[in-house]
Amino acid sequence: MHSKEFRLFTPGPLNTSMQVREAAGRDLGSRSPTAIHLSAQLREEIVHIAECDESWSAVPLSGSGTFAVEAMLCSLLSADDHLLIIENGVYSARMLDICHIHSISHSVLKLPPHQGFDLGLIERAIKQTPLVTHIAAVHFETALGVINDIDGLTQLANAYGCQLLIDAISTFGVLPLDYSAPSLCAVALSANKCLHGLPGLAFVLARKDVLATYVPPRTLSLDIKAHAKALDSHGQWLFTPPLQIMLALKQAIDEYHQQGGRHARHHLYTQRMAHLLSGMERLGFSPMIELKFCAPLIVTLAPNPGTQCEIDKLNEFLFQRGLVIYPTKHWAVNSFRIGIMGELSIQDIDDLLAAFAEFTSQSATPPLLKFFS
Ligand SMILES: *Cc1c(COP(=O)(O)O)cnc(C)c1O
Repeated sequence: MHSKEFRLFTPGPLNTSMQVREAAGRDLGSRSPTAIHLSAQLREEIVHIAECDESWSAVPLSGSGTFAVEAMLCSLLSADDHLLIIENGVYSARMLDICHIHSISHSVLKLPPHQGFDLGLIERAIKQTPLVTHIAAVHFETALGVINDIDGLTQLANAYGCQLLIDAISTFGVLPLDYSAPSLCAVALSANKCLHGLPGLAFVLARKDVLATYVPPRTLSLDIKAHAKALDSHGQWLFTPPLQIMLALKQAIDEYHQQGGRHARHHLYTQRMAHLLSGMERLGFSPMIELKFCAPLIVTLAPNPGTQCEIDKLNEFLFQRGLVIYPTKHWAVNSFRIGIMGELSIQDIDDLLAAFAEFTSQSATPPLLKFFS
């Protein structure tokens, strides 16, 4: 039996190291010097990993990545602001729901979900939305595995004087952003994607001047300005911090640095993805997204014509073997996603490929032979 009960080839939660899980196994008082030091350390580490300067501040929150996106949108926009959401997938669509619920003034530019940004269309939308002050987008849409050109978007935002709010939850720690761009104002991230921490802790990385500007709050528990103020003044969270998850993230970040940081993790993920794709290609599966819009994080695959594969049965077959992949949520019906983030090895990918081989050879057996075997 493999040492991991489940091997998660998903967009999250992801596999974590034993040391990370063990780091969570102790009690801590939230007002203890250890807890106060831990919060400060994690905030500094996030700024350090982002490679941004002292004009940025990392504000931690309890909850999954969505909490950070919601906190970012509803804390930073005033009643006079107008947000343009670039929607090309499930996670940018979620931003729309957030704006509806909090009555945030917004418009949407809907783009096809299976490809990255068309900057020409975005520029036209900015021109057609004279009210626009802010733009929100997702760096890597994990729903289909599509990378968006945030650098290109940043240049447009610079040119039109807009502020950018980015969901970098699935890329933070592996793919960089240009934090020196004047338009970039806030970024949402979480502990349990490329940082390999436990789920339940998220951050909004924001410019200090933006955090210091008062906006009447739309929310109590997700008000990152209030959270930042409390942490900056006395080092303590406004509400109970997820201390065990924080201890685990500290361990995960130590491992991240020991393993060589962002470039090393990017290299590792690239190797894993290449290994996965060549193996899947041999078994008769191809990526559904053009390679120029893919990133070494998660990929949508579909059976080639002639490859026998019923996706529902496949999921069940793999799940029974502790191998977890996800179906695609929309657009590409007869397909599935395989992620390579988290604590996985080439051996884990080989085990997944072997299970795929077993499943497809079974499916390919003529019914009569199956009957007699
Ligand atoms: C994982 C993820 C989120 C957060 O989703 P949760 O369900 O809150 O964990 C948001 N955006 C992207 C792009 C993600 O990959």
